[in-house]
Amino acid sequence: MIVTRFAPSPTGYLHIGGLRTALYSYLWAKKSGGKFLLRIEDTDLKRNSKEAAIAIEEAFKWTGLSHDETITYQSSRFDIYKKYVQQLLDEGKAYYCYMSSSEKDELYEKQKANKERTKYDGRYRNFKGIPPSNVEPVVRIKAPLEGEISFIDGVKGEVAFDVKDVLDDFVIARADGTPLYNFVVAIDDALMGVTEVIRGDDHLSNTPKQMVVYKALGFDIPKFYHVPMILNPNGKKLSKRDGAMDVMDYKKDGYLPEAILNFLIRLGWSHGDQEIFSMNEMLELFNPNDINKSASAYNAEKLSWINTQYIKSLHVDRLVEVLKEYDLDLSGFDKAEELINLLRDRAKNMNELKDMASSIVNEPTQYNQKAVEKFLKGDALEILAAFNDELKSKGDITLAEDFKDIANSFLDSRGLKLKHLAQPIRIAIVGSAVSPSVFDVLSIVGFKSVLKRIDNLCKTGV
Ligand code: GLU
Repeated sequence: MIVTRFAPSPTGYLHIGGLRTALYSYLWAKKSGGKFLLRIEDTDLKRNSKEAAIAIEEAFKWTGLSHDETITYQSSRFDIYKKYVQQLLDEGKAYYCYMSSSEKDELYEKQKANKERTKYDGRYRNFKGIPPSNVEPVVRIKAPLEGEISFIDGVKGEVAFDVKDVLDDFVIARADGTPLYNFVVAIDDALMGVTEVIRGDDHLSNTPKQMVVYKALGFDIPKFYHVPMILNPNGKKLSKRDGAMDVMDYKKDGYLPEAILNFLIRLGWSHGDQEIFSMNEMLELFNPNDINKSASAYNAEKLSWINTQYIKSLHVDRLVEVLKEYDLDLSGFDKAEELINLLRDRAKNMNELKDMASSIVNEPTQYNQKAVEKFLKGDALEILAAFNDELKSKGDITLAEDFKDIANSFLDSRGLKLKHLAQPIRIAIVGSAVSPSVFDVLSIVGFKSVLKRIDNLCKTGV
């Protein structure tokens, strides 16, 4: 069974690049009935915050990528890590190192002066003497001193490191006993039964260290997929300005999670030139072995386009549900389906859909000044009032067609054109001169509210 995980460090919000990694991991596990786990990497108690962990979970919930089992918090697993540190010490695979920080500085300075890579020199690897009493020791793992560490990466192919270039006996536990990143990642992946690790290729250099830990503890090494970064359109690291935002900022900007996930799957993976993928298609078609080897470019226009495609095509019930998150509850509104179908092609994002829908569902609280100046000149309000009387005389009207017929005969009998009525009606109904087909809007607003809104404008004026 394939078991994948997403393992964010809660030092900030959930970033769009992280979400892509999560999506890939989710799809790869779920397509074969495997498990997708979530682990919060919060061992660095100084840098991590509980709020950030909560924010990540919230963002995760919003995307709909559900994880299996309960969330693993590394901060609650210190006892487990301690046990493995002790095991490696007992087996002679790790050792206490008493190098003081000034000794370390001195060593690194020397190496820098010789233009060498700064690394620990193994001075306590075989130490047998009496340890200095003024230094609290760290624990270092015995890493191979020469040779190669290599693995087959699912994205990059064979990756080989000369251990001389990348390794030293690195610290696995600080002097205060707290374990270090590469140590705990390997332990957790092994204990959680993770079979495939999909992560950003900024972690590629951690992999040889983690492999040292797997080997020392006798754990199976998972398969790795290191995914190239998302760059901005100029080929530079993605910054906040380019869209490297908190995933929840996309929600604020009116993006649907469906659109974000669809956008992300295409950043680094493709299936012919298909752009729109339902979740079922993603599950069916995605394979991490097909992830692009080169970095992908963030494209804000594309994201926006995908979002509009989803607004156009999603089931009405889903859009009603999402609109609730934008503080518009259409669940008690009997014409919700007609309303959404009328507006969905015109909305660039959920904020626009919400604004347009609210303006139809709710009576206007104010009238757009420019529209008033332009369209309520002369006898416009009298014409509008007369039209309202005409409507009242007809009894209950529900169909757009009927509103249209009444308007046409009203206009014909007075020698007027639709433009004399359409914009004033719009102002009365939605507060501005912008709306979809005015008769469709009237039918959705409903007879009673139409009369009331026109009365409001005619009686109270502007
Ligand atoms: N916690 C790491 C991060 O947030 C990810 C570790 C991993 O995926 O192995 O970048």
